[in-house]
Amino acid sequence: MTDFTSKKTLVIGGSRGIGAAIVRRFAKDGADVRFTYAGSHDAAQALAAETGATAIKSDAADRQAVTDVVAAQGPLDILVVNAGVGILGDALTLDPDAIDRMFDINIRAPYHAAVEAARQMPEGGRIIVIGSVNGDRMPFAGGAAYAVTKSALQGMARGLARDFGARGITVNIVQPGPTDTDMNPADGPMAEAMTGFMAIKRYATSEEIAGLTAYLAGPEASIITGAMHTIDGGFGA
Ligand code: NDP
Repeated sequence: MTDFTSKKTLVIGGSRGIGAAIVRRFAKDGADVRFTYAGSHDAAQALAAETGATAIKSDAADRQAVTDVVAAQGPLDILVVNAGVGILGDALTLDPDAIDRMFDINIRAPYHAAVEAARQMPEGGRIIVIGSVNGDRMPFAGGAAYAVTKSALQGMARGLARDFGARGITVNIVQPGPTDTDMNPADGPMAEAMTGFMAIKRYATSEEIAGLTAYLAGPEASIITGAMHTIDGGFGA
């Protein structure tokens, strides 16, 4: 447990999966949590009722919506950008519009959200983006575009860490491996292949990813910045 009492926290993409676990963890640890969602209205409302967090409908594919929702929160102590989509398949036949939309959600939203948050963020603020071990390793065909999005976050974190470091603001990427969510169910068709790449042959839970995120947002992590934090059961080893 980390004491986040009165820390104003925004989670971009918090209605389901890893994002919902982050909302639960930060709310349990005392933070004032707001989270965005796009399609999962019922899940978002249920999570808000359960945790006391505030749910805000906002599409991460829309740059103006992203910067508006960040700016509207006022000074944020902690920004977590979790929203992401995974479009996998034959590079020759995937819909280019769908790929570009993934680039909007997975790359442009984190960048613009981070910059917008930093305008008002107090000294010692935290910016954390959920990347993927696929930013380091893509051991199967069909994942090139998704891997592009997660590698791009690495350069973003390195650069923004230098932009905001003088203010004590840290910028970090959490890089999960296979994690049991709607996007990648532990009993889904890809599960056997996924665990085949791992040293510890089980999916992570969303709560484990939330735990690392909380550590990076907490007081013990104030010197950690511009870094990738892989949590993947050895998928990338
Ligand atoms: P899920 O599909 O289970 O959940 C995705 C979350 O992102 C939902 O809350 C969804 O909200 C939100 N989201 C998606 N698109 C948008 C959008 N346009 N605007 C606002 N919110 C949006 O995914 P996971 O929990 O598995 O993934 C979370 C993050 O972790 C992603 O960045 C993913 O790439 C990364 N990751 C996941 C891994 C895994 O194995 N599960 C492994 C490595 C990384 P809504 O439904 O309301 O639209």
